Amino acid sequence: MKDVYNIAVFQGDGIGPEIMQPTVDLLSFLAGRGGYRYDFTDLPAGAAHYAKTGVSLPDTSMKGAREADAILLSAMGLPSVRYPDGTEISPQIDLRKALNLFAGVRPVRIFPGQRTPLNMPDGRTVDFVLIRESTEGLFHTQGRGEVSENEARETLLITRETSELLFDFAFAMARARKEAGRGPGRVTCVDKANVFRAFAFFREIFDAKAKQFPDVASDHAYVDATALWFVQKPWDFDVLVTENMFGDILSDLGAGLMGGLGVAPSADIGRNHAVFQPCHGSAPDIAGQGVANPLAMILSGAMMLEWLGLRHDHAALVADGTHLREAAEGVIASGEVLTGDLGGTATTQEAAAAVTAALSVP
Ligand code: ATP
Ligand code: MG
Repeated sequence: MKDVYNIAVFQGDGIGPEIMQPTVDLLSFLAGRGGYRYDFTDLPAGAAHYAKTGVSLPDTSMKGAREADAILLSAMGLPSVRYPDGTEISPQIDLRKALNLFAGVRPVRIFPGQRTPLNMPDGRTVDFVLIRESTEGLFHTQGRGEVSENEARETLLITRETSELLFDFAFAMARARKEAGRGPGRVTCVDKANVFRAFAFFREIFDAKAKQFPDVASDHAYVDATALWFVQKPWDFDVLVTENMFGDILSDLGAGLMGGLGVAPSADIGRNHAVFQPCHGSAPDIAGQGVANPLAMILSGAMMLEWLGLRHDHAALVADGTHLREAAEGVIASGEVLTGDLGGTATTQEAAAAVTAALSVP
């Protein structure tokens, strides 16, 4: 347990600063009440920074991120700014690699009252977590694929070391959710083991890991069937764990189920570091107008609190994380103060103020 937490803050591009400010304010508000404190350090990085300086992620920012207790990131990248080879500026991916953040955690939740494209049967809630391996898989050769005139190749890489870490993480999460009464305690390995040997290998490592967690159930699903079930019976899932590319696709599907990117949080977690950021990008089309939805960023902040709390054995932080999540979810469910992406007319400030108001009620 510590009294002061050092948080690295990447405000990034586009709507980044607009959604970061209310999040930092909410976290400070909770800390003031809980008797602990944050030192927030703004670190430059991103597309606008690259346009200005020719560097997208300065060494000093990387160092600051490495030394922090946790990292908050809003959004980086702009369609108008690119590296000379034409690829997008995405320091968030560099951070993931440099800090070895192998577990991409994407919670998917739908609760009574929430607007969703699904026709939810009465009394059903959706509350599951998708864990996407984020350092290898089909992204392994990202940007380095072999392309000749008549052929192109990319490699799918699955390693035992990363898979074991990933599955350990998934089973521990299912166990924690079970203990908190939020799930039955089950991990589903999502793969394509019927077609690819690499996925059969992935599944074998999963099955071996499952034996080490006798109190947590385990099963398998093919990724194509999983896509179907995301729409047909998403309330059946607890913790899902999958390869990088499959996770990339399913996490957008998950955000769609929830009602949009503006409410979809995420965390990228490794052994020693973690980055908390919304699933969405920098939304340059609405930047500077004060209308971006801050809830995905705020919910990512709530995930940071829970992670810090568990890591530092700080029950008040875990409780604050849950409290903040519930406050943000309450705003979504009540539907009274919604930003444009959710069909409302509220500004970023108004949506954030609604969360603060919900928090102020003890
Ligand atoms: P990236 O490649 O970085 O993921 P993207 O091209 O997928 O970016 P986003 O920046 O995520 O695009 O934006 C997609 C759409 O969703 C845009 O129309 C944007 O305005 C909208 N959007 C994204 N985030 C928010 C938000 N927080 N509030 C409101 N609208 C948002
Ligand atoms: Mg995107």
